[in-house]
Amino acid sequence: MSGDTTEEAARRRTFAVISHPDAGKSTLTEALALHAHAITSAGAVHGKSGRRGVSSDWMEMEQARGISVTSAVLQFPHRGQVMNLLDTPGHADFSEDTYRVLAAVDCAVMLVDAAKGLEEQTRKLFDVCRHRGVPVITFINKWDRPGRDALELLDEIESEFRLKPTPVTWPVGGPGHMRGLVDVRDPDRMLRYTRAPGGAKEAVEEVLDAAEAEQAVGADWEQAVEELSLLRETGGTYDPESFLAGKSTPVFFGAAISNIGVRLLLDAVVDMAPAPGPRPLADGGERPLDAPFSGLVFKVQANMDRSHRDRIAFVRVCSGVFERGMTVTRAATGKPFATKYAHSVFGQDRSSLETAYPGDVVGLVNAGALRVGDTLYAERKAVFPGMPTFAPEHFSVVRPVDIGRTKQFRRGIAQLDEEGVVQVLVSDRRGEQAPVLAAVGPMQFDVVQHRMENEFTAPVRLEPLPYSAARATDAVGAEQLNKSRLVHGEAMHRARDGVWLGLFPSKWHISSFEREFPDSPLEALIAAH
Ligand code: GDP
Repeated sequence: MSGDTTEEAARRRTFAVISHPDAGKSTLTEALALHAHAITSAGAVHGKSGRRGVSSDWMEMEQARGISVTSAVLQFPHRGQVMNLLDTPGHADFSEDTYRVLAAVDCAVMLVDAAKGLEEQTRKLFDVCRHRGVPVITFINKWDRPGRDALELLDEIESEFRLKPTPVTWPVGGPGHMRGLVDVRDPDRMLRYTRAPGGAKEAVEEVLDAAEAEQAVGADWEQAVEELSLLRETGGTYDPESFLAGKSTPVFFGAAISNIGVRLLLDAVVDMAPAPGPRPLADGGERPLDAPFSGLVFKVQANMDRSHRDRIAFVRVCSGVFERGMTVTRAATGKPFATKYAHSVFGQDRSSLETAYPGDVVGLVNAGALRVGDTLYAERKAVFPGMPTFAPEHFSVVRPVDIGRTKQFRRGIAQLDEEGVVQVLVSDRRGEQAPVLAAVGPMQFDVVQHRMENEFTAPVRLEPLPYSAARATDAVGAEQLNKSRLVHGEAMHRARDGVWLGLFPSKWHISSFEREFPDSPLEALIAAH
């Protein structure tokens, strides 16, 4: 059995795509699935107008095209491996959920729009990857459109992220006049693509040797050859060790919409991304892959439908074999949890899952008792480090619409805090009736409003506060901030753990507070502890 687990784990590649909205994540996801023959035909992704609510893009894809995916993970085979592609909600619903998914992957594909370069959400997500030691493969997308120079994009990655870009494919022809790609490992050939109509099928790939390439595209080939030799001289070649250490990133170019460069990317995930390994435990030890089952709850999704109030907990298997029906223990309470209703999260018919191995994701229904960050285990106890909390950037006072529903209001807010839907802040000044909700993305507030009304029958009113930055501090710092007459801001503590947070209208206000009280401890919150 244990040999089985290790072998099965070695076949898993569990990854996520991180990107800024509109960089092409949905398009790339479809293209990856198409290459892996998980689906037979992909259509152009619809415009996003009218997209709203908690439904992820993947759910929309599913509805629009009958592709069987859920909002959490897409599992498909490729070259004898099992690929688990975890969704990172990255659009209107950008929130803490997005970050938490990165606790459940072994690798990330950073998708960059060739015309826009690095964007705000790419930066934030990259920070989390760096913090968690998740290695990053880069895909520069939309090379079929006018955009920025390839070398300039590499420079931006290197200088902004202190991450050495090591191209594995290189474009022949600049952005907007893509003639083909060179696989840097086989530099005397050019891959030429003929786009299938509408991108509906894999693009046809032809291999030209150097002479043929020169004849076909002339100066563009010569320029690519020159750029490649420059790259070799500057040491920009793929290096597995520094990639796994988070110091370099293999770079791929392409156009997801026409499936160009996508096969090479998918192969890279198989060949370069790490398979699941032993997982660090909260006590400093490690859970080996072949230990009894253990898993980490990285996402809990409430059913937004009033008539189905159950919750699904998404669990990444970290060790051992998960078998449907087994009883596992919730580490936080020591209480058993029956998994009779485990679901496979991907499958043509949403079949129930029978067995899962390290790297796989299991959806557990009726999971009202489970929380994000929970460890589940069988036989031998394991506790994984809890989920990191993130620096909130949106703040709103929340009040019950109906004072008569105060009890339900308090219960609901406490529950949403515990589930990690939002962070709840309190202060004596504002009182218990008016806690402040703190979120990474504004979408989290919509979820609160919806659930308070539908689940706790205590509709709420939200009143945005003019803050956009938070720092952790201590009681002294909190007092100084609340007293300061120069700096606009306020200190509150987090209901869950009592940590003091200073809230500021802008980073500029943080600097002026630091000037006024140079001894005051302010700590950036960005990501993991
Ligand atoms: P997401 O917001 O990151 O999921 O991005 P989408 O996949 O929805 O893509 C955003 C827009 O970019 C859509 O209009 C896509 O058709 C377009 N797009 C995606 N990939 C490419 C590409 O490789 N080339 C071009 N020209 N457009 C693309």
